[in-house]
Amino acid sequence: MSQDQSRPSASGLDVLISGGSMGGLFTGIALARSGHSPTIYERSAGALESRGGGIVAQQNIRRFLADHDVVDPDAITTRSHERRFLTESGDVERAAPETMVFTSWDALYRQLRDAFPDERYRTGAKITSVSPEAATATIADEAERAADLVVAAEGGQSTTRAQLYPDAEPEFASYLAWRGVVDEAALSTACVEAFDGTFTFYQGADHLILAYFIPGADGETEPGSRRLNWVWYDTLDGRDREAIFTDTSGTERRLSVAPGRLRDPVRRRQRERAATLPPVFETLVGETPDLFVQAIYDLTVPSMVADRACLLGDAAFVARPHTAAGTAKSAGDATALADALASHESVDDALAAWNQRRTEYGTALVDRGKKMGDERLNLR
Ligand SMILES: Cc1cc2nc3c(=O)[nH]c(=O)nc-3n(C[C@H](O)[C@H](O)[C@H](O)COP(=O)(O)OP(=O)(O)OC[C@H]3O[C@@H](n4cnc5c(N)ncnc54)[C@H](O)[C@@H]3O)c2cc1C
Repeated sequence: MSQDQSRPSASGLDVLISGGSMGGLFTGIALARSGHSPTIYERSAGALESRGGGIVAQQNIRRFLADHDVVDPDAITTRSHERRFLTESGDVERAAPETMVFTSWDALYRQLRDAFPDERYRTGAKITSVSPEAATATIADEAERAADLVVAAEGGQSTTRAQLYPDAEPEFASYLAWRGVVDEAALSTACVEAFDGTFTFYQGADHLILAYFIPGADGETEPGSRRLNWVWYDTLDGRDREAIFTDTSGTERRLSVAPGRLRDPVRRRQRERAATLPPVFETLVGETPDLFVQAIYDLTVPSMVADRACLLGDAAFVARPHTAAGTAKSAGDATALADALASHESVDDALAAWNQRRTEYGTALVDRGKKMGDERLNLR
């Protein structure tokens, strides 16, 4: 195949990555391992502030950690061995053996961050615009920077996506995920015993809550030092979304309110609603020092590639959390990009192949998430 001399071949590329959370780090590590030169630009000034929540450590995440010598996956994961559904009164309605592997956002982020060189991870560096044809990006207060490829791993509110596809907006699914994390040591013995070793659910008429153990704040996996993570999908129940998403500083957040930033009346009202849950979940919500909330939304893009700019992870597709696939998808996007560049002579061919494969996957995952969520919240 003849090679366009003005375009680099698919090896040894200078890659500018915008966004230094999971998607940016998976991409940086995977591309560096394949002989490229990635640099990450993260708009936040310091280490990213954890929301402390749990993540299902899908097999491809564990494989990534092991294959790229990031960490032994067993060192930062917990396991459950049974999926259990409770009745409203708290009895076990049904249970089935099933092994699930979990980690926490902070433990995973820390390991990925440590595996990526500091000199190639720029903080306080916001990408303000991208020129896809020229593969250049403008960093706030700095000159334009040229690269061979720009990857925007900027999350659900990506500015590069807004620039490339202004019509691709997050679509609110009309319900919320209330979340919380509690240190195991702070829980009552009854609560620990009720949830230990299980992935436990309660399905109400129009809400759903689940809980599982995740590693402790410093990644500890031993019983006694873990944390219990819960997610409670609930409708607005007549409440005003704007009021819920206006945080303690009076700022209206678009998609989530972080731990410590929910206003008192909002937190109180949700705690009161916990009386509709099985007693063990009511206790768990009551024992949680800090609730946080995120809007459930769907997001798709028509294409993940525009010339020499790529959208990756949540910047491209956001599937509802019922799929338990957000972080796994960003790991999958990153490894597929490195693989595509390794198996094609030209960058354009590699990006075309990657785009087709991952756009199909993202679209199907978002569809699956919509079905799962609407069914569980009785929204159909
Ligand atoms: C601080 C934080 C905590 C989280 N905690 C949890 C959790 O506890 N549980 C869970 O399931 N999921 C959590 N998530 C979401 C989860 O990380 C993502 O859904 C998933 O892993 C996909 O990641 P992503 O890298 O595509 O997007 P995100 O994780 O959203 O990361 C996007 C990153 O890009 C940066 N960025 C955005 N725009 C620009 C720009 N123009 N220039 C430079 N940088 C930019 C952001 O600051 C952010 O760091 C969290 C995300 C963040 C940012």
